Amino acid sequence: TSVFVSGATGFIAQQTISLLISKGYNVVGSVRSAAKGEKLQKLHGSKFQYEVVPVLEKQGAFDEALKKHPEVTVFLHTASPVTQSVEDNEKDILIPAIDGTKFVLESIQKTAPQIKRVVYTSSIVAVVPLSKISDPSFVASEDVFNPTTYEEGKANPHAAYFASKSLAEKAAWEFVKTNKPNFTLSTINPVYVLGPQAKDEEAKGDLNITAEVINAVYKLKKDDKIPETGGSFVDVRDVAKAHVLAFEKDEAQGKRLITYTERFNSQLILNIIRKNFPDLRERLPEGNPEDIGARTTATIDNSKSKEILGDDSISIEESVKAAVQQFIRVNA
Ligand code: NDP
Repeated sequence: TSVFVSGATGFIAQQTISLLISKGYNVVGSVRSAAKGEKLQKLHGSKFQYEVVPVLEKQGAFDEALKKHPEVTVFLHTASPVTQSVEDNEKDILIPAIDGTKFVLESIQKTAPQIKRVVYTSSIVAVVPLSKISDPSFVASEDVFNPTTYEEGKANPHAAYFASKSLAEKAAWEFVKTNKPNFTLSTINPVYVLGPQAKDEEAKGDLNITAEVINAVYKLKKDDKIPETGGSFVDVRDVAKAHVLAFEKDEAQGKRLITYTERFNSQLILNIIRKNFPDLRERLPEGNPEDIGARTTATIDNSKSKEILGDDSISIEESVKAAVQQFIRVNA
């Protein structure tokens, strides 16, 4: 089987591609430039091919790439802006996410009717509204949709991200309902995705926003303040696994799958690093090791997803250990 992965350079996409290849799948990944494609080609080897699709938000953007690969029967749409530094919330976040998703599905229906499974990488922010993300009385489950509007999304990059993911996911379900394509849709709705890069080469320099969370703690100096980051965690390798199970398992068709393991904050990450890497203790601050309780986030009930995906997930401790071991390897 051959699987198309949009946004192949991404943190989640690369772990997904690595898992797919290890399971014997062939992968076609889309990237925004040939230079990015060549780099991935070297990292992932001969079972990986790339196609350049420079812009998401263009009707027919994926037509050419799909026509070249009639062997593809599964499409994983992971490409979407994950950034806070933009000039224009609409142009840089909302439009590529929402129109990009609609156009991709249109391209698949028109030019690749052999594709039977589509998985869209949505987010917990398509479930929980921005105003409830730190409210433990709000229960997030597979049946809940963030009602945020496009207008609200224009306010700032944070609101724009919440709106971009919710409205793109809704557009995807609407597309399937209205157009009755040959494919079934599943969505993966991850919380904060942390953990190691698929390839050590990618663990140098600037990392994707959420992969940077552990790196930011790892890089702290004795007198630095502990970052205030915290929330709900899932390891990137579990998110990759969910993408694969979403198209492999019949019972995942038509479902939203929330991936969530446990809560975390930067102090907990620091405690884990100090405990497991004694050599780093001298350089790192200690913070307040007890300060791991006040992690207020919406309550997550993903029991329906776990029935499909299984209940064995990677803990925050294992995730931090793997990421820090990788930072130590690449910085040696
Ligand atoms: P990355 O930033 O690592 O990956 C984003 C991918 O999307 C990259 O391949 C990037 O390409 C591509 N992309 C971004 N903007 C555009 C655009 N305007 N046009 C075309 N391609 C674009 O982030 P993640 O791996 O974390 O994110 C992957 C998906 O997972 C996203 O849909 C995100 O919303 C979702 N997600 C992530 C979570 C997290 O905690 N990380 C949580 C929940 C959902 P390039 O490399 O060229 O910039």
